Amino acid sequence: MSITPSLSYLKSFFFCGLCFKKMDIQNEAFFCHSGCFKGLSAVELEEILWDELGKFLSHASQRTAAAEKLKEKLSAKQIRLLFKSLKGFVGFLPVEDKERFMNSLVEKVEITSSNSINIVFRF
Ligand SMILES: [Zn+2]
Repeated sequence: MSITPSLSYLKSFFFCGLCFKKMDIQNEAFFCHSGCFKGLSAVELEEILWDELGKFLSHASQRTAAAEKLKEKLSAKQIRLLFKSLKGFVGFLPVEDKERFMNSLVEKVEITSSNSINIVFRF
């Protein structure tokens, strides 16, 4: 079984929070090559990720900084739509938009357990 295309964008961002190596995905589950983690549900990690991003951007100053950064790649209308989506169910957001958003704002995501992550922002 190959990976769901809608989840593959996560791969370039996910690092092991214990040994700091890049994580890999197989059958929709993330694992660390050093053996720190295996079988972490990509679907659940994606949910946690966007939940955390939503919380982070609920602060006005952080939202302003993020919008400033996103302006390089997205129109004002797209940014508004993204922020609106973050408050609701982000699953409906097209994967291209998620990827653009992540590329603009996020350096990497360290996975520290099956349900906790640490997001390293670009700003
Ligand atoms: Zn590791």
